[in-house]
Amino acid sequence: DPQKAASGIQSKVQMNVKNVILVLSGKGGVGKSTVATNLAMALSNKGYNTGLADLDIHGPNIPKMLGIEDQKLGSYDGKTIEPVKVSGKLGVVSMAFLLPDTSSPVVWRGAMKNTAIKQFLEDVNWGELDYLVVDLPPGTGDEALSVAQLAPNIAGAVIVTTPQDVAILDSSKSVKFIEKLGLKVLGIIENMSGLVCPHCGDVIDLFGRGGGEKAAKELNVPYLGSIPIDPDMRIAGDEGKPFILKRDGSEQNKVTWQHVDEV
Ligand code: ADP
Repeated sequence: DPQKAASGIQSKVQMNVKNVILVLSGKGGVGKSTVATNLAMALSNKGYNTGLADLDIHGPNIPKMLGIEDQKLGSYDGKTIEPVKVSGKLGVVSMAFLLPDTSSPVVWRGAMKNTAIKQFLEDVNWGELDYLVVDLPPGTGDEALSVAQLAPNIAGAVIVTTPQDVAILDSSKSVKFIEKLGLKVLGIIENMSGLVCPHCGDVIDLFGRGGGEKAAKELNVPYLGSIPIDPDMRIAGDEGKPFILKRDGSEQNKVTWQHVDEV
């Protein structure tokens, strides 16, 4: 019972944050970190003080996606941790900053993971935050339980899925998990929803389309919108320059991100 498990963790957090947004997915590789990174970047660009906590312990990719993978977490007083600043409005902590090198796998037990998460929420000098975006590992594991118990003011969870039936099945597990923890599902985002052919402009439904919307309807949670497969999105992630910064105002991109902006 996830609620029982979560209640075993004592919360003593006094974080100064107005809204914590969890980003999760039923399985890996669906674009969860991409959405978390771009969402945090979009919020900070709108002038909100934003934190981004990469708690995807087994695949902490956010520093690479922001081009800050060479940075380390520091401390001025030996007690509190300073987040890595991407801009005046966006600070980041990531499990990746704690690893000796980027190719090291994390083989931590549950208790250690929980301690690390606790530190990232309690001991980081976040300042006053309007938003803390939390990138969780895929699935319904310990990390989400710890955050649910330790973080204050959780606005809810954004669930990222791809359109195939199997992914939808996984995301419905995420929805039920979040609801069982007594948290709100802010909505489902369907990523990798069709590929626009750069030559003819036709849409190729590589993984299908519309499954996320259908699942949202069935599960009675909001549908936030879809993001097509776009090679620029992958290149932006690999280059460490979030896609949202490259938005050129073309109609396609406006449609792509309008709902995400509203989250
Ligand atoms: P997850 O966090 O769910 O494991 P990532 O955000 O790391 O997934 O995305 C997996 C890979 O797919 C990354 O290389 C990312 O750049 C790429 N990607 C994510 N969304 C898209 C998209 N809409 N179009 C093209 N590539 C994408």
